[in-house]
Amino acid sequence: MLSAVNYGQSIASQTTLGLHQNSRMNSTLSIRCFAANILETHASWRRSCSEQLYPMFNTIGSHLMIFTIRKYFLNQNNFKRYISSAKIKMSTGDNIGVTLKKVTTVLENFAPKKLSESWDNTGLLVEPYTARNITKVLLTNDLTEDVALEAHNLGCEMIVSYHPPIFAPMKSVVQSSWKERIVSYLLENRISLYSPHTSWDCVRGGVNDWLASAFSFTESVPLIPGSDPQFGAGRLLQLTSEISLSTAISKVQELIEIPHVRFALGRGKQMSSNIKTVALCAGSGSSVLKGAVADLYLTGEMLHHDVLDAAQKGISVILTNHSDSERGFLKVFSNNFQNLLNNEVQVFVSKLDKDPLVTV
Ligand SMILES: [Zn+2]
Repeated sequence: MLSAVNYGQSIASQTTLGLHQNSRMNSTLSIRCFAANILETHASWRRSCSEQLYPMFNTIGSHLMIFTIRKYFLNQNNFKRYISSAKIKMSTGDNIGVTLKKVTTVLENFAPKKLSESWDNTGLLVEPYTARNITKVLLTNDLTEDVALEAHNLGCEMIVSYHPPIFAPMKSVVQSSWKERIVSYLLENRISLYSPHTSWDCVRGGVNDWLASAFSFTESVPLIPGSDPQFGAGRLLQLTSEISLSTAISKVQELIEIPHVRFALGRGKQMSSNIKTVALCAGSGSSVLKGAVADLYLTGEMLHHDVLDAAQKGISVILTNHSDSERGFLKVFSNNFQNLLNNEVQVFVSKLDKDPLVTV
């Protein structure tokens, strides 16, 4: 426990500093720094912060410091600058959490970037200028402004957004576009952003395998194999035993926890008709499912003519809404992710992330 320690002697001769721990904050030191009678130049104040204070704070294992100084000094623009740079240095906190590099390595080890489709934009997408350790991560399917605010309110230093919020190249980072506003907000609040997208679709144990877990099956192979045939886009399942179309719908609803799906009955089929093979692709599956030989297609969304084409060939189709075919994986992954990070990072799943479409 730290209390009102005076470091006045150790820094600039006419400066008095006191440190005080706010013991109500768990695993976080809230340190108030009082400065009085600073008659030194700005340069010496900066030196005091960087050379004297920061190493001391590091030694006592502090993570977050709230650094306040008398109003008198806040009114001086140059001091303001030094104060804010001191804040950044002091909240770097090397003793709690893990580095951004460690988190991205764990993510890469789970689903290497090379598994991503060539058109995709995956990996670390936003990295703040001043590094800080990661203690909390928020998982989301889509990064909206509400989710960005949620991450900041939870104290997360990092967001993992399945869909890449930056996809088309940005020519500016200004307030008039919601996507650019998010990037601006993340940088201002020093929140990193990582996006795995199609690497999670292709990898074993990823999004498509989660969607496949609605069924019990004896074989699951990618519809479009990658260079390693174990990985790839979509899945073709051979079910353990035949199930009716109505049972298949119930199983999907149970997994995705959504009461309504859209369904197209294949030509010549009834709801009681049995199925043995399922072709599935999380998200927007038309291009991956096209031509697949199966009794049932399962995906998030398809265009009218693609649904019509499948149904006329006798293939029934379940559409869940795009992100409802993906989002449930986050819950499964969050536990796995926290374990892979040796519980040194708290992993949250967004409560505000949802598909923009609902069936009413
Ligand atoms: Zn998607």
